[in-house]
Amino acid sequence: MKGLPLDELYEHLGPGGIATGDCLRAFARDSWPQALGWSEAELSAHVPAAVLRPATEGAAAAALAWAARRGVAVVPRGAGSGVLGGAVPMQEGSVVLDLRRLTEFELIPDGREPVVRVGAGWLGGELERRLNILGWSLLNFPQSMEDSTVGGWIATDAYGQLSTRYGGVRAQVRGVRAAGLDGLARAEAAEPHLGAEGTLGALTEVTLRVRPSPLTRRHFAYEFPGPEEAMAWAGEAMKGDGPPSVLRLYGPVDAFFNGLKRRGEGASSGALRSRVEALLLKRTGWLNALTPLLGERWLAVAVYEDEEPYLFAAPPVPRDAVDLGEGPSLRWWKRRYHLSKERLERTFAAGGFVDTADFWAPLSLMTRLDADVRAALRPHALAFSHLSHFDRTGACLYVTFAGSGGGERHARAWTAALEAGKALGACVNHHHGIGLGKLPWLGSAWTADRIQAWREEKRARDPRNLLNPGKICP
Ligand SMILES: Cc1cc2nc3c(=O)[nH]c(=O)nc-3n(C[C@H](O)[C@H](O)[C@H](O)COP(=O)(O)OP(=O)(O)OC[C@H]3O[C@@H](n4cnc5c(N)ncnc54)[C@H](O)[C@@H]3O)c2cc1C
Repeated sequence: MKGLPLDELYEHLGPGGIATGDCLRAFARDSWPQALGWSEAELSAHVPAAVLRPATEGAAAAALAWAARRGVAVVPRGAGSGVLGGAVPMQEGSVVLDLRRLTEFELIPDGREPVVRVGAGWLGGELERRLNILGWSLLNFPQSMEDSTVGGWIATDAYGQLSTRYGGVRAQVRGVRAAGLDGLARAEAAEPHLGAEGTLGALTEVTLRVRPSPLTRRHFAYEFPGPEEAMAWAGEAMKGDGPPSVLRLYGPVDAFFNGLKRRGEGASSGALRSRVEALLLKRTGWLNALTPLLGERWLAVAVYEDEEPYLFAAPPVPRDAVDLGEGPSLRWWKRRYHLSKERLERTFAAGGFVDTADFWAPLSLMTRLDADVRAALRPHALAFSHLSHFDRTGACLYVTFAGSGGGERHARAWTAALEAGKALGACVNHHHGIGLGKLPWLGSAWTADRIQAWREEKRARDPRNLLNPGKICP
């Protein structure tokens, strides 16, 4: 947008703190699969007017004060790994506030509980490596560990792969600092910001619980005759005092594409995977017809960790199951961060689409939810599923679907999946936020009380709707 008085910001942001020009296109979208399929024209509609890159909390606050004074919409942003479009600028002339330069670090191991206080811009993988050197470890490990920031984790209410034992990031965060449109940054409880997707302020600092690095890790895998038997066992595993850190149940097609039962690299990398994908994208009807050949058996992987003072608990002995040893779980562990934005982009560049819909439901509803969502997807795509992020009441159903035929077909598949979940009364969101992708289903993702609480916060903090407009409640 011409005429944006960016020069007023120079004294706060300094050299390298304001970006304009060609690089702005990279900030027009995040990792929302539907946006990865956008045409050039669709992308152009979301290019911001500038990217502001504060290196200090004070500079972030000053940038927001400037935006308030000038009536400019601001999209706070971390690493852009969000999968629902939460970081997509929706208003012409918006600026993106890129918070990745906020990287202070303070480990406080000897307070009431050990915590690390860090700048919101830390990438998860880098932070974990820094902590490991000191003998400590995080509790939140999203698959996007290397490509997501701790600020983004809070803003999307993220759940990592060890959430079965440690809960989502909301169970681990001990406080945040956030900058507001009044130009001030303050310490706050995390709650209003959890899942608020930058609509209530820019997170500048996050305090997270940490644990001593685990001493040992033990892997288990079992194959069950079907989903009911696998879920009954998972329910048992969640009852004791020492739940597994990781507990995942794979349907037969998901287990196959993840190569969990194959030795070596399996289908997760290399030429075999590319060939399988190329076929998959063009022949989903055909593949759907063939998937019954993979049988009905469900595969469970579980990882138990020891660390003082929380020592090893054994998995319950499964009935009616084949013990597969540790191999499948070790294979999963080795490849747990393999899917990346670049891989997703390659699929879209080849003319295909791949996406995932996450739901939360009690285990009693799960078999039906899984069957209904996959049936709704079948006319549009190949669909397969697994369960993860167990707690004592339910789990997250994660349905991956892939096909070809462009954006419209992709959007139809997405709508069919979400509508099937909604029809059964499942929560249509577990850990990816709302963004643009789930906005039409907000009422099936958030409770009425949560929506009301968000509205009150929004009115108090941002009555002119300058912070990430178009998100949560447009
Ligand atoms: C391959 C892949 C695997 C993934 N696996 C997981 C997973 O296992 N678990 C999981 O929970 N998610 C997962 N995700 C989704 C994504 O990584 C998370 O949502 C992550 O928390 C986003 O962090 P980010 O820094 O990339 O945020 P961004 O994508 O930059 O932003 C996400 C939202 O948060 C807001 N925001 C970001 N930073 C701030 C800040 N400092 N202050 C205020 N608002 C902010 C943005 O406005 C936007 O609305 C995955 C994504 C990919 C591509």
